[in-house]
Amino acid sequence: MDTYITVTVYGENAEQIVEGAQKSIEDYERLWSVTSPGSEIYKINNSGGKAVVVSDETIELIEFALEMSLETDGALNPAIYPLLSLWGFTKEENYVPSESEINSLLKNVDCSTVKLDDNAVIVPDNIMLDFGSVGKGFVGDKITEQLQHQGIKSALLDIGGNVQAIGTKPDGEAWKIGLRNPMNEGILGVLSVSDLSVVTSGNYERYFVDDNGKRYGHIIDPASGYPVENDLLSVTIIGEKGRQCDALSTALFVMGFDKAIEFFKDNGGFEMILVKNNGEIYATSGVRAIFSTDNEVFFI
Ligand code: AMP
Ligand code: MG
Repeated sequence: MDTYITVTVYGENAEQIVEGAQKSIEDYERLWSVTSPGSEIYKINNSGGKAVVVSDETIELIEFALEMSLETDGALNPAIYPLLSLWGFTKEENYVPSESEINSLLKNVDCSTVKLDDNAVIVPDNIMLDFGSVGKGFVGDKITEQLQHQGIKSALLDIGGNVQAIGTKPDGEAWKIGLRNPMNEGILGVLSVSDLSVVTSGNYERYFVDDNGKRYGHIIDPASGYPVENDLLSVTIIGEKGRQCDALSTALFVMGFDKAIEFFKDNGGFEMILVKNNGEIYATSGVRAIFSTDNEVFFI
């Protein structure tokens, strides 16, 4: 997944259970990596338009991402890969494409062309899938279930900044999660959570800077084909499921401040913290009781 993962487990056989979690994470990586030829996603992306039969879990992942794409009006787009690759984000070979290069690829990111039939996936030749926006949250949910089945009541998963708190700390206190300040290397504040997932998206995590000092982030607006450049620096989503938080943090970052608030009001079912590029911090009212910070926060 091209990131660091920390698994903290308290309880009997904790060491063995952490090893099991590591093995499962590696299995998911093998299943869903866009770059390794053995993965199911690689097979789908290189199928030449033919049906590819995949595992139940891959179907679950694809179904979820397509559903969230519809729910977010296309802000989340699991077929964004051709554009990501054009910008060089898939190989760390950064490149600023011309407008015509971007326009010619915009037709290749239509995820409504993906067809599922039981365990078969049919993706047109010009379409490629990438689950960088939801995969980590999804794996977080799977590992959470695995640990819970093994009787673990206290654990913390951090999959590249996608945090999943299982139960409380062993002493019964909530887990403390530091949120990174997108404006500097410091901490924005600390969330106290138990049995919740906390996921942040922003263009400060993965980006490149061109010769003129302009910054290009790794989250692409599927409507324009350009890296997101709006009034947000970061979106943190707090909710019960890692996959939901992961999908929404990416999608609401694409939407920008006003649409993100509108989405929250229309849908709910999660809490969020938005940092605007003027430095203002906004949060939903459910955050009030669990967020401690020295910064001023405007509540929605
Ligand atoms: P996240 O860190 O969860 O916000 O996901 C960002 C990653 O998802 C990027 O590094 C890309 O691999 C991919 N991505 C970029 N833009 C989008 C988008 N609009 N919809 C879905 N995935 C995207
Ligand atoms: Mg995400």
